[in-house]
Amino acid sequence: MKNADFIKQWKNTTQNNYGIPELALVKGKGLVLTDADGKQYLDFLGGIATSVLGHAHPAIVKAVSKQIAQLGHVSNFYAHPNALALANKLITMTGDKSARVFFCQSGAEANEAALKLSRRTGRNRIIAAQGAFHGRTMGALSLTGQPAKREPFLPLIKGVKHVPFGDIAAMRRAISKKTAMVIIEPIMGEAGVIIPPADYLAQVRDLCDTYGALLVIDAVQTGMGRTGDWFGYEYSGIKPDVITLAKGLGGGLPLGAMIALGKAASLFEPGDHGSTFGGNPVTTAAGLAAISVIEKEKLMQKARKHYEFLLTEIAQIPGVTEVRGAGLLIGIELEAGNSKEIAAKMLAAGVLVNAPNPSTIRIAPALIVTDAQIKKFIAIFRKVLSDGK
Ligand SMILES: *Cc1c(COP(=O)(O)O)cnc(C)c1O
Repeated sequence: MKNADFIKQWKNTTQNNYGIPELALVKGKGLVLTDADGKQYLDFLGGIATSVLGHAHPAIVKAVSKQIAQLGHVSNFYAHPNALALANKLITMTGDKSARVFFCQSGAEANEAALKLSRRTGRNRIIAAQGAFHGRTMGALSLTGQPAKREPFLPLIKGVKHVPFGDIAAMRRAISKKTAMVIIEPIMGEAGVIIPPADYLAQVRDLCDTYGALLVIDAVQTGMGRTGDWFGYEYSGIKPDVITLAKGLGGGLPLGAMIALGKAASLFEPGDHGSTFGGNPVTTAAGLAAISVIEKEKLMQKARKHYEFLLTEIAQIPGVTEVRGAGLLIGIELEAGNSKEIAAKMLAAGVLVNAPNPSTIRIAPALIVTDAQIKKFIAIFRKVLSDGK
């Protein structure tokens, strides 16, 4: 089947919640994807910051193949060595031995778990950021601060207030002794790679301490080394009460986690929450393999170096007004405010990127991206931007 056949059948078989895709992807190796027509693409979106090791990475293939041949599912009635090893690894990564992990499959579920955990404080008010994205299930959508995604589905859960991102005065006005949790993305990904003021997270931490509210860091998009740190908040020096993860955590497989630290780690009691597939042996094997490669190949250090290079190079391209982000999560602001059109032209030129808002191009390539691939991306981006000028 060719792309055109896929698209035709897609319309008649799947819900129209995403709109119609332009092509079908059938093969991947590293950062190179192949569509149903045989055309190849340089993947600078990484399945939306998810395929941290690119596609068909040998370490993931090996770990997953070995595990699926041995034991594919245990349910949450039983322990499994991979879930244990990954939980231990995540606890070490947080730097807090008292941290405890709950496994799920997605970012929305990780945030749902955090939301339910926060109810166990005995409080029920929540503060989130305007423009933030925390997922699409009814609980996670209640946290998401994007009116277009929320309004068709009102009423959502009560007691959630959205304040301007990065505005500590607004946070101070909103927070009280009734606040159960404040949820913040270290960098707002879906909103267009938006960075808060350098001291914002530390100031939010102080306010949460003053009022006894949990600080939940949604590291679903910034996590797994993407920003040059494990979770994306470390630069701020804070210790969160809860960290939520998904996207890159499973190295391309569906895996999420809610990690609670300190006192928050013991808020859940037996029966409070669950997930049939949570801590699945195969997805946790993939997560362990991904972390091991990120460590061995020093991919976080490399991500930081790539960032410096990309920042300097992209900022010089005519038509670009700003480049921002951290590590390999980068937003490029376009003077012409035509990011959708540019993303489509990049696709035609064989590079996958996306347009999270009308003026921003987002790139989130795999952490294994090479210098040569980065140079190729820059050359094509420069050419696409200069076309028609
Ligand atoms: C993608 C994303 C989510 C939702 O993750 P799903 O796996 O799609 O449910 C939540 N928070 C952030 C910051 C995200 O980027």
